[in-house]
Amino acid sequence: LKIVGDPAAMRSESSEARSLGRTIGFVPTMGSLHEGHLSLVRRCRASGSVTVASIFVNPAQFSPGEDFERYPRDPDRDARLLEKEGVDILFLPEASDLYRPGHSTWVDVTGLTRGLCAAHRPGHFRGVATIVAKLLNLVRPDAAYFGQKDAQQAAIIRRMVEDLDFDTRVVVCPTVREPDGLALSSRNVFLSPEHRLAAPSLYAALEAGRRAVASGERDAGRLRSMMTERLQGAGFRPQYVDAVGATSLEPVDPLDGEVLLAAAAYLGATRLIDNVTLTVPAGTVARS
Ligand code: AMP
Repeated sequence: LKIVGDPAAMRSESSEARSLGRTIGFVPTMGSLHEGHLSLVRRCRASGSVTVASIFVNPAQFSPGEDFERYPRDPDRDARLLEKEGVDILFLPEASDLYRPGHSTWVDVTGLTRGLCAAHRPGHFRGVATIVAKLLNLVRPDAAYFGQKDAQQAAIIRRMVEDLDFDTRVVVCPTVREPDGLALSSRNVFLSPEHRLAAPSLYAALEAGRRAVASGERDAGRLRSMMTERLQGAGFRPQYVDAVGATSLEPVDPLDGEVLLAAAAYLGATRLIDNVTLTVPAGTVARS
């Protein structure tokens, strides 16, 4: 594992790999790595590309009052994990190298940002799109790997790569979960033992939504209420619970086609997000 901090050195590494005829695969992360991140690394490695992972806790995607300062960081442990997975390069830039004095360019993906997390985290996806654009320009990967766990982020990045003609294929990989269903997240370490026990109810509520649709529910409002009540019953403070088109991320009511059921909810001070996708078969009759 080669650790590269300097953006210019990262560029040179990529140019060198390309000049040797290699393809480059890229896994951007904020570190504090878990099996979810490692699943992306493994998928990337399996493609036979030079595998580059980055760790950067991006200040631009945190609002004042969010958890930027206390976001978990453990680069030494992360480097050991990446080395064990056979990652070739760990790109570990400093904030001051990526946001230099005078920085004034931001990437705003205007579609896909009306609902879900965007409605509650103003500026978040602008920060995400900007840093991903910068990282793609530095690493210049053939493919970049993202998790379905952050479904809105993945959709926004797909859109940005398409709209700005990045020469990179976006690969979205399935959500990795604990055996009890809780989606792995770097923020799970913040959960108290009691909240950790309650946490799988987020996925359970989404799965209950999926089952309701499978048995004929097509009314988005009723579905939202049912999932919200389940979350509240388990001790969550839901921020949003929604049913949207899986690609458009716009509300769908009655449910139709490819649907994303997504929720964000607090357990104490910890905000968890999760989602499931489902297909509503065409021409099915709505349950009254
Ligand atoms: P983060 O470090 O939270 O910015 O996440 C880095 C990448 O890992 C993003 O593409 C996430 O969607 C992905 N990721 C995070 N958690 C999971 C998970 N449980 N399963 C699959 N991918 C994940």
